[in-house]
Amino acid sequence: MAEFDYSHRVVKLQELMSEIGVGATLLSVGADLPYFTGYEAMPTERLTMLVVPVVGDPILFIPRLEAPRVVAGDFEMLAWDETDDPVALVAKAASGAERALIGDHTWSVFLVGLQKELPDISWAPASTVTKQLRMRKDRGEIEALRSAAHGVDRVLARVPGEVVFAGRTEVEVANDLRRMTVEEGHEMAAFAIVASGPNGASPHHEPEQRVIEPGDLAICDFGGRYEGYYSDVTRTFSVGDPTQEQVEIHAVVAAANAAGQSAVGPGVPCQEVDRATRYVVVEAGYGEYFIHRTGHGIGLEVHEHPYLVEGNDLGLEAGMTFSIEPGIYLPGQLGVRIEDIAVCTETGIDALNRADRNLVVVA
Ligand code: ZN
Ligand code: ZN
Ligand code: ZN
Repeated sequence: MAEFDYSHRVVKLQELMSEIGVGATLLSVGADLPYFTGYEAMPTERLTMLVVPVVGDPILFIPRLEAPRVVAGDFEMLAWDETDDPVALVAKAASGAERALIGDHTWSVFLVGLQKELPDISWAPASTVTKQLRMRKDRGEIEALRSAAHGVDRVLARVPGEVVFAGRTEVEVANDLRRMTVEEGHEMAAFAIVASGPNGASPHHEPEQRVIEPGDLAICDFGGRYEGYYSDVTRTFSVGDPTQEQVEIHAVVAAANAAGQSAVGPGVPCQEVDRATRYVVVEAGYGEYFIHRTGHGIGLEVHEHPYLVEGNDLGLEAGMTFSIEPGIYLPGQLGVRIEDIAVCTETGIDALNRADRNLVVVA
């Protein structure tokens, strides 16, 4: 089990806050709070909020009934009772600040309450600063992501032998993937997209009662949480023997995925990885059918910074982790996507997913 240095992360946050004149950072539900404390807030009407002052120890305001879940760390804990007004308590702790950051996923009811209590503070989303830290993974985080990726790779290796597609619904196959994701070491399965035949043309298709038929391609995009970190992998299977067109389109996407992997390296702008995959798809004549960005960062969240998309000129750095997931989507016909998680290293790329990228035939 990976160990994380939460106090070091808080010190780094305070350095960045002081550089830009932020007096307090307030974190509630979402991934920033566990990143800095190891504790994940319950998403309920009872406010949990960490107040990180620019100098000194953070204070975690928490409903008294949830306090037993917290593992003590380098922060003060202030349990509030059912008759307290937690917004007022937090406002008091943050009152010295002129500028404050607030967690992106904080419920608006709390932010509106805080704005009323602290009318002179100017607010900005916490991600403007926290992404600088969270994008650059440390060794423990990379190992957790690697274990997660290997877990779903093992699921993919089991699929041809254990999962029947033809004659079963997308929902049934998705449930198999979820079960196997947990069997292969994840704490939980977070999502499973199974998009068969014409449904494959919708990249975020929700599995439905469609019965999968021989001759379909089936996109399987799934992942889960492993020691707090996510896996996210996609392979497209052929249900029975594929047609020539299906083989060709799959080969284009595989080549685009490979081009994306080759483009990764320190200093390479994020958009260059997108351009590398897109170039292959455009050259093959399918450019208008590649309707999403090439990839997203991954860590404590499935989608986080950095995004591999045209217009993002942020240079990749060693320790950044992200998906490479080109696809081709022909409306009314089919879809193909191949997705892997990778780490940018000092010298290039470390591919975390190693599952077979060829078009694998399933029953
Ligand atoms: Zn997606
Ligand atoms: Zn995915
Ligand atoms: Zn993804």
